Amino acid sequence: MPNAPQPLAADLARAQSPADFHHALRAALGRVDQLGAQTVAASGVKLACCAGCGLCCTLRVDVFAHEVFLVADHIRTHFSAAERAALTVRLAAHAERVRPLTPFEHATQNVTCPLLRDSRCSVYAARPHTCRRHHSQDFAACQFTYDHPTDLDFPGAHDRALFRTLTEAMRQGAEVYAQLGYDATIYELGTALAEALASPASWRRWRAQKKAFRHASETPAE
Ligand code: SF4
Ligand code: SF4
Repeated sequence: MPNAPQPLAADLARAQSPADFHHALRAALGRVDQLGAQTVAASGVKLACCAGCGLCCTLRVDVFAHEVFLVADHIRTHFSAAERAALTVRLAAHAERVRPLTPFEHATQNVTCPLLRDSRCSVYAARPHTCRRHHSQDFAACQFTYDHPTDLDFPGAHDRALFRTLTEAMRQGAEVYAQLGYDATIYELGTALAEALASPASWRRWRAQKKAFRHASETPAE
């Protein structure tokens, strides 16, 4: 059973500044990556995923607010002014397209993530848990899903044990934030990120344990 959230709880309890909170989440995501790598090594599963393979970055990415703020921090600290300006344009176009859609409609229309650049994730080190969990043993299955985005019956090619392990780590991490009273709304990454970058008030609302984003697309909790 993954044990990543316990150190996360301790780190978050000590956190005061935005940098402290981002550091706590970065460390937790690092532990999740380590857990994934250990699971892969132990099972011997062969993944088809590699750098420059971004076909799956057309799926809807569901996130929590704390993950969005980590991505926003990465953008502020790593992107040039020109890259940020270009991203702002892409995020606006993304938000205009996605906001009117239901989560199902979004998930079945191959909407490219605005953070994908030259088939690579431009925020790789800060990418959300959902992206870290996603994997495949067979690129042909990813291609089929891309070519038939509304065919939800097609079986994915993920490794079930790895998926289960990373899902449980994700659930436990989310529970730590929820128990501390932080926003547990499930947001869509691009629309929430647009608001995080444009509105410092979203961070203040989150710190005050209120709902962080007012204009982002949301996915109802199951
Ligand atoms: S899940 Fe599929 S499309 Fe995504 S990186 Fe892996 S092989 Fe490529
Ligand atoms: S955040 Fe990165 S890994 Fe996740 S969908 Fe966007 S480009 Fe792909």
